[in-house]
Amino acid sequence: MKKISIIVPCYNEHEAIPYFYKEMLKIESSMKSVEFEYIFVNDGSTDQTLESLRQLAKDNKHVHYISFSRNFGKESAMYAGLEYSKGDYVTLMDADLQDPPHLLPKMYKYITDEGYDRVGTRRVTRKGEPLIRSFFARCFYKLINKMSKIEMVDGARDYCLMTRQVVNSILELKEYNRYTKGLFSFVGYDTKWIEYENVERVAGETKWSFWKLFIYAIEAITAFSTVPLVVSAVIGIVFCLISFIAIAVIIVKTILFGDPVGGWPSLVCIIFFVSGIQLFSIGIIGQYLSKTYLETKKRTIYIIKETDENK
Ligand code: UDP
Ligand code: MG
Repeated sequence: MKKISIIVPCYNEHEAIPYFYKEMLKIESSMKSVEFEYIFVNDGSTDQTLESLRQLAKDNKHVHYISFSRNFGKESAMYAGLEYSKGDYVTLMDADLQDPPHLLPKMYKYITDEGYDRVGTRRVTRKGEPLIRSFFARCFYKLINKMSKIEMVDGARDYCLMTRQVVNSILELKEYNRYTKGLFSFVGYDTKWIEYENVERVAGETKWSFWKLFIYAIEAITAFSTVPLVVSAVIGIVFCLISFIAIAVIIVKTILFGDPVGGWPSLVCIIFFVSGIQLFSIGIIGQYLSKTYLETKKRTIYIIKETDENK
């Protein structure tokens, strides 16, 4: 019998987990031909998430949990889950039921009957989300698709079903700064996209503040594009050209009209402007340097404090 591993990153999801598991049991009973395995990853929660996971694993033998020593972030949690999964097919799912479980049978069919390697999901609406957040999300996708050779699908979720082969390819990418949606595009394979309307979270609240998402966006851009470096180089060249023109203008003007001292305010503006651009460019280089720095340290992506699983 084939097995599906369900990986669920949980960060303070104590309230949502019971709803999630109940919903999944319904799906399980509608998919009799496959076995299910659950891997809940407790990402350093500060509420009773760990207690409820311990209990759940005790009561159900196909439920397992991994608990981190602190909050490592959703990317690390997904990576750990993938490493521990044993199923022939693996799915990544949020604990808040924002990734509709009822899509799973359809996703499974696409893989088994139509031969796809991966079935991804994308939200076509962002109903219920703050408008400003949707706006910036759209801008982010436009920007990253312009800057990166790899295609990022707008509204794509981490929620997907994939074959063991895809999982192994993802696991081979051991980079520290992870942006899984990009990694999926990077590894390729035949992907089928399923669309659905946004669903609001069943309980608890979102763990992603605007600031956290902003940092995540920068992570994604630096991980999948080096265009910002080119942009700062181009700005540098443009400024050189402008200064050559300015020098020529000043020389000609001095020869023709003499050199009346003046131009103090314009000088200050120019200094501010140019040093701003310089700092901006150094900042961009710094971003890449810091990512390289972290990568070369080869720190572990996660640390497990407690688990009921033997790898
Ligand atoms: N999550 C996590 N670690 C974190 C933040 C979030 O494991 O540091 C999990 C969280 O428990 C949930 C999923 O990632 O299962 C998605 O988070 P959330 O629903 O808060 O994000 P949103 O859907 O609002 O974008
Ligand atoms: Mg959510």
